[in-house]
Amino acid sequence: MGLFSNKKKRDYSIIAGCGRLGANLACALYDRGTNVLIIDSNEEAFGKLSPSFGGLTYVGDAMEIFVLDEADIKNATVVAAVTNNDNTNILIAQLAKELFHLPHVIARLHDPEKECVYRELGIDTIFPGVLSAKEVDRILNIGYQTEEEV
Ligand code: AMP
Repeated sequence: MGLFSNKKKRDYSIIAGCGRLGANLACALYDRGTNVLIIDSNEEAFGKLSPSFGGLTYVGDAMEIFVLDEADIKNATVVAAVTNNDNTNILIAQLAKELFHLPHVIARLHDPEKECVYRELGIDTIFPGVLSAKEVDRILNIGYQTEEEV
């Protein structure tokens, strides 16, 4: 049955890292009716979650296989690796994809250089720097292009 006994909520998402992005994502997914468990190595980070968040929190290092096991990763449909460290996020994403065969794995990365490598591994990536630049462009309408688009 897994960690969640509420059968109305079908999808189960695990978020690694409870910074601003992780906390917002966790609350948004929970509000949409998804079961959510958020992992952070620092318990105080959970203070960023909205008081209405009704998912689970887990204090631990999300790079540890036993932590992912205890988080019931085998029953998850989504893993979002959004800690503040690219290598950490890549490792978590690779574990989720290759060891636990999850269908949807997303990693937040700062360095866009190896995007194609992650794409080949089936890991979806988001780059806040690129997204921010595009948004600034949208606001200023200055025609920003990524290296790939040039
Ligand atoms: P931010 O810097 O606001 O993006 O927050 C990133 C969060 O990721 C912080 O709350 C960190 O404690 C958390 N974090 C960093 N490394 C790990 C890890 N290996 N496992 C779980 N949480 C982590």
